[in-house]
Amino acid sequence: MVDQLKKSIRDVPDFPKKGILFKDITTLCKEPAMFQRMVDLLGHRYVGKGIDLVVGIEARGFVVGAALAYKLGAGVVLVRKPGKLPHKTHKASYALEYGTDSLEIHQDAIAKGQRVVIADDLLATGGTAAAVTGLVSKMGAKIVECAFIVELEELSGRNKLTPHPVFSLIQY
Ligand code: AMP
Repeated sequence: MVDQLKKSIRDVPDFPKKGILFKDITTLCKEPAMFQRMVDLLGHRYVGKGIDLVVGIEARGFVVGAALAYKLGAGVVLVRKPGKLPHKTHKASYALEYGTDSLEIHQDAIAKGQRVVIADDLLATGGTAAAVTGLVSKMGAKIVECAFIVELEELSGRNKLTPHPVFSLIQY
């Protein structure tokens, strides 16, 4: 099952910069059976775990996060690039595999004690997800797990997310 998912991901060399092998999940998402399987596999993992919210990271994390939240009967929270969220935000800066950036979350998006899963398409160096675990922890959330479709294991991104549990469907 996971093998088929893996096969449906496209490799794009030298995007967005020379030397980066981009793992493109759009080829997985556009296949109805693959998209459904991806959401079902993640959903089964968290069903019955009392998840209140799924936090999706812009932009491919919105696709994964919203579908997962629907599956769990949970709410979905958006973590966005700076200047996109209209209300008061908390902000964190982070290093990417290719550059630096910042992310924002609405200050009232999560209440203390809410149980959350953080969702994104891919875990590379872990800088992006670490910024989000930082934001969400400060707001008093209980991070049940950080969930990814793809994990690039040689970059050891999960070490940056310690002590939070990390799950990925597909590893390279
Ligand atoms: P990182 O902060 O290094 O873990 O990078 C993770 C974020 O950057 C995710 O939101 C990914 O969408 C994107 N990303 C980083 N490296 C890649 C890659 N090789 N292929 C696809 N997306 C990537």
